[in-house]
Amino acid sequence: MRLIIASNNTHKLIEIREILGSEFDDILSMREAGIDHETVEDGSTFMENAEKKAREIADISGCCALADDSGLCVDALDGAPGIYSARFSGVHGDDAANNRLLLEKLKGVENRGAHYTCAMVLARPDGSIVEAEGYLYGEIAHEEAGSNGFGYDPLFYLPERGCTTAQISSEEKNAISHRANALRELLKKLREE
Ligand code: IMP
Repeated sequence: MRLIIASNNTHKLIEIREILGSEFDDILSMREAGIDHETVEDGSTFMENAEKKAREIADISGCCALADDSGLCVDALDGAPGIYSARFSGVHGDDAANNRLLLEKLKGVENRGAHYTCAMVLARPDGSIVEAEGYLYGEIAHEEAGSNGFGYDPLFYLPERGCTTAQISSEEKNAISHRANALRELLKKLREE
């Protein structure tokens, strides 16, 4: 069976191949599958957005499709930036501005608890879906540290490791990430079916 990933992100593809490789004959990015499609992410939850992306790619390709939607949820901000993580500051993908705004909003705030969430949906051409969610818990630091990773990683502090997710290697991050946790949960559900 062939699985198409609703993304062209090489990093995500490697992670997905590592965890789901045993379940599919072939795992392809949208580009590798010859699909050029942009889903309008207008859902009100991570899961709604992931499901919409997965269903659209399964419909277009006639194959199984896997999509994820992820972001940062900060306790003291009632779960914000949440589904707006990539465009928290107003400009899509401006990580530096997003991190600046996050620090500003948490100025003087003692409760620094936060988690990354990843919603992962596998959609089949027959219309059935399998959903899974994964989390990574941590805290928002008072200043940026580290240059690995992306997005909010320089501010995402792991108390048990004493460093941010921008200060660990990609291998270490992949082992504990919200994406990996969602993928492992999805694999478990697939094997239970
Ligand atoms: P996506 O759904 O993976 O594209 O992530 C949406 C946004 O959430 C990104 O643009 C980042 O701002 C944030 N985000 C998601 N996962 C991570 C992560 O592992 N590290 C840092 N930021 C993340």
